[in-house]
Amino acid sequence: MSKFIITITPPTPNGDLHIGHLAGPFLSADIFTRAQRQKGHDCVLVSYSDDYQSYMLRRGLEQGRDPVAIGEDNTRKIKISLQMAGIEIDHWMTSQDNSYFRDAVLELYHQGVNDRNIYQKNALAPYCRACNVWGYEAFGRGQCNHCGQNSDASQCEECAGAPNYLYMKNFTCKLCGAEHEWIEKEHAYLNIGKNVYKLRQWLGDSAVRRNSRAFAERELAPTPEDWQITRHGDAGLDIGQPALGKAHTWFMGAAGYIAATREHFTVNRQTPELFDAFWYADDTTLVHFLGYDCLYSHGIAYPILLAGSRYAKKTQRLYTNMFLKLNGLNLSTSRNHAIWIRDLVSDYDTDSVRLYMALLAPEEQESDFVETQFVDWHQAFYQQKIESLTVAAMHEAPAFWLDGLQRDEHKLLCEVYNRWSTVTSADSFSSRKLAQLVVELYEMAHARLLAQRPLYYLVALASCIGAPITPTLSRQIHKRCAINSALVLDNLINATFLDYSI
Ligand SMILES: [Zn+2]
Ligand SMILES: [Zn+2]
Repeated sequence: MSKFIITITPPTPNGDLHIGHLAGPFLSADIFTRAQRQKGHDCVLVSYSDDYQSYMLRRGLEQGRDPVAIGEDNTRKIKISLQMAGIEIDHWMTSQDNSYFRDAVLELYHQGVNDRNIYQKNALAPYCRACNVWGYEAFGRGQCNHCGQNSDASQCEECAGAPNYLYMKNFTCKLCGAEHEWIEKEHAYLNIGKNVYKLRQWLGDSAVRRNSRAFAERELAPTPEDWQITRHGDAGLDIGQPALGKAHTWFMGAAGYIAATREHFTVNRQTPELFDAFWYADDTTLVHFLGYDCLYSHGIAYPILLAGSRYAKKTQRLYTNMFLKLNGLNLSTSRNHAIWIRDLVSDYDTDSVRLYMALLAPEEQESDFVETQFVDWHQAFYQQKIESLTVAAMHEAPAFWLDGLQRDEHKLLCEVYNRWSTVTSADSFSSRKLAQLVVELYEMAHARLLAQRPLYYLVALASCIGAPITPTLSRQIHKRCAINSALVLDNLINATFLDYSI
């Protein structure tokens, strides 16, 4: 049995969640966690509200409201949407004014200072006097100095790099469009350059998706810039260093995950010793689910911050995702081109949305949610095919679940076992490939149905393997068809079904 700490990048609480969020880290992390628990592993899945985000300040100005109140309202909505989509997060921390959060940020900050990974220096900062805002993130935009695309000066959505506003072209104030004036200020920096060797080693040992590896290799060559981690006059947490400004939210993510886990075990579960068991054990695997544009912080900065701390992890896994489009266009809440999670799962079965979204998961490249295609699939596959298979399996009801297996299908079982082991492994996880396997098994069962051959074992396999994606549907099938899911899973996990002889 292994231990996993699983994290989801905190969404900015400036609105509810749409299907792009679901197809991104939320559903994948939920499926991953359920799949590991199915195998008997110990998991804790955490996330939190990104209350110190620079964009919260801007939303507050736009709406003439207190950003904290906006954050609270949206966090309520986000939690309901996640619940409606069957996303079971063990703990969702509120980071605003949270002592666990603050303690963890300060600990990692001071650790970094002691390790000489964090240092301070003077640098110019962009300020718009007319609007009285600083252009570090939400209030400055220009062309990314890495890829040339339009970006803020924090994280580029296009190339995932951390742009430097000093080198960005056409960099202006987001509110009034004028050029900023440049004011010299002292800031804290994370030293990336001196950690390149360690990061390369870490990357060599890590299983990360191809595009993430390419990103990290690009970032580390030839000499990376150090990372500014404090800001003046912007959102962030006061770390008791007014001369340096406040720590920005991207710096605080690793601390956020530690704090969320600590609050979960200390307050919710009243078992602080489990926090120690998860975070201080050398064999715990830390698994991050994140958007590709959060790769810099999670792939470069957090490994450095954690390496020097008592939370150091030998094994870390990063699962990034690209963007989901809607009917061929980028999702945009400001242009009202989005579908809210709560609307979609209210109109259709939650599990049908989960399965379809898993099939579409934009893991290594963008994918497109076309509403009419989903509606057709929902009716033809999810409702009709699965229902007719359930009825057929109900009538077949063999004494042992593998009884209908044909002599020439034994090889198929081996293949299913190998594919399932690979796609649910923490080293090569893919919710998309798991969903594809499940759908293929249902389609195979359907071909058996048309040929009037036994199909029970295929329905049993599809519904058990698919349970992390479609928990409710699988439970219903198991009940109606008297499938002993514990037995099927046990046979699968221990591969004992491979010994089954006809
Ligand atoms: Zn870029
Ligand atoms: Zn301005």
